[in-house]
Amino acid sequence: MDSAATKKVMEEICVVCEQPRGKGIHLYTSFICRDCEKDITSTDTKDPKYIYIINQLKKASIPEIYS
Ligand SMILES: [Zn+2]
Repeated sequence: MDSAATKKVMEEICVVCEQPRGKGIHLYTSFICRDCEKDITSTDTKDPKYIYIINQLKKASIPEIYS
């Protein structure tokens, strides 16, 4: 058994923090890591941090042809 190969979890780039993460959720075509998912659910919608997250999501999920 090659443990090195199985140990490597499939990592995806989180659209919010832009870091490769192994765990998270998919929202449409975007990937959001656990930490950012937690941020979204715990942050007030009026918080600038929340707005930042939403902007990151928009940037990632809206194709450039719509701009
Ligand atoms: Zn993240």
